[in-house]
Parts: sequence; structure tokens; C-alpha cells
Amino acid sequence: MSNLLGAVEIRALAEQLNLKPTKKLGQNFVVDANTCRKIVKLAAVESTDIALEIGPGLGSLTLALLEKAKQVLAVEIDDRLANQLPITAAQHGFDTNKLTVISQDAMQLTKLPANPTVLVANLPYNISVPVLLNMLELFPTLNRGVVMVQSEVAHRLAAKPNNKEYGSPTAKANWWADLELSGSVGRSVFWPVPNVDSSLVSFVRHAPLGDEDQRVATFSVIDKAFAKRRKMMRSAVGELFDDAEGNLIAAGVDPTIRGEALAIAQFFQIGKQLIKHNSTK
Ligand code: SAM
Repeated sequence: MSNLLGAVEIRALAEQLNLKPTKKLGQNFVVDANTCRKIVKLAAVESTDIALEIGPGLGSLTLALLEKAKQVLAVEIDDRLANQLPITAAQHGFDTNKLTVISQDAMQLTKLPANPTVLVANLPYNISVPVLLNMLELFPTLNRGVVMVQSEVAHRLAAKPNNKEYGSPTAKANWWADLELSGSVGRSVFWPVPNVDSSLVSFVRHAPLGDEDQRVATFSVIDKAFAKRRKMMRSAVGELFDDAEGNLIAAGVDPTIRGEALAIAQFFQIGKQLIKHNSTK
């Protein structure tokens, strides 16, 4: 018998909490235990892992994480959901010492009570990209993860250069990690049923490309490159450099190329060149 939440219980819990799921908070809850177990398996969560979940909601995925992880840190903005979560976990026979609920806006998060190793989350869709980037930036111990996001966003996050879906979120996420699509999730596993499709994105952190100053410089180049994506790089980064063409050549990048053709390694070269350029001003 499943220890996890099912459709009937999810609705009963929502009724008990007088919860009307809101679009603003991206409240679409997974009502299928198999989907939750599949996500946890995909993330290869083990008994040594400290799992970070953003937006645990009624706990569908949280309980699946508690089955495998050493500890689960769950960050939830909605107090009613945050308060109910340990109660639900206890009712399902889980050791609540393994669960830490942080009642907070994930966008305001700066620290956690333990160092997370894996991010597993059905992210609130309107803030999925900034939340993912923030977690990668804030918690270097997060070495991998699986997130569920809107399919369109998933395709953008996993895109490669020279693809129309490749953009600033992809390039920035690639500063920290390699990302790939890990399948789609049918609308029928959610309550309420969303009006967009969902997909899974897996990521694995790679060795740091550079330090924080270099990241900031590289991200400012990425922002310029995708602000007007049809522009050649020499004009896209014109405001950053006195001589954009010369600096791009010095960074080993063709000045006539468009940003959408550049991988993170090349943005990094331009970022380093920008630091050099600014230090001689
Ligand atoms: N993980 C649950 C599941 O799969 O059933 C719920 C996922 S639901 C898509 C998103 C959850 O994120 C909701 O519980 C919502 O209240 C929460 N949420 C929305 N914005 C948030 C924020 N800024 N910080 C933390 N949690 C947030």
C-alpha cells in the first residue's frame, strides 16, 4: 500500500485547510504517487542526501523524498501549507525529525539550516527560472537535481546554442550546471489541471567556471547579448566596451556572431575581457 498522497486525500486536505489553489502561487498539486516516485528516482535520491524542495504544497513530492533522503528541507510561502506539512508527514508514518519546513518566500531565501545536496521540486511556474538560478548560486553543495517546470521553460533551459529556444536562462544556468530534458508530465496528474504542459529538467553541477566577479561580468554580457538577440555581438555589447570589436577579438569571439550562437565558455571569455577592460579604464 502506498504511503504517499493520492487524489482523494489531496482534495480532502485542501478542503480541511479551506485552500483554494491560486494561479498566482502556481498551486497545481501532483495527485499521482507514481509520478512523485518517478521524479525522486530520476534524481537518484539516496539515504545520504539532503534534499531541497521549493514549494512542497500539500506534500505529494515531499513524502516521496522522505522515503529516500536522509533529510528534506522544504521551503513553502503559503503558511497554511507549511504548517500542515509536518502533520501530514507524521500521519503517513514518516519520521518528522527528517523534515525541516521553512515558511518563507524562496525568492528571499539566503540560507538553510543544512547544506542541500539535491534539488527536487515541482516549481511554482511563474518564478521557476529565477528560483532555479538562485538555488544554484546560493547553495554550491547542490550537486544535482530534477525540477518540474512548464514545458516551454524546460525546452529553453535545456536548449543548445543556435537553437531558437536558447537564451539568457540557458546560458546563465550553464554557468553552474549541465541541463537536460527528462521527459514530460501529463496534465491529468495535477489538481487543479493546469492549462500548460509540464516537463522535467535534470541538472548536474559542473566545476566552477570562475569566481563571483567573473560570473557577474559574464552575466552582464549575457544580458546584453540577449536583450536584442538579432544583433551581432559587436553592437550588442557596444555599451560595455570602448572598442567592442577589438575586445571581442581579444576574447577570441567573432564580433559579427550573434549571442544565440555562443556557449557559456565563450560568454565567460568575454566576461573576463570585460574585467580586464574595466580595470584599465
Ligand atoms: N510540490 C507540490 C506538488 O508537486 O504537489 C506543489 C507544487 S505547486 C506547482 C508550487 C508550490 O510552490 C505551491 O505549494 C505554492 O504555494 C508554492 N510557492 C509559490 N511561490 C512560492 C515562493 N515564492 N516560495 C516558496 N514557495 C512558493
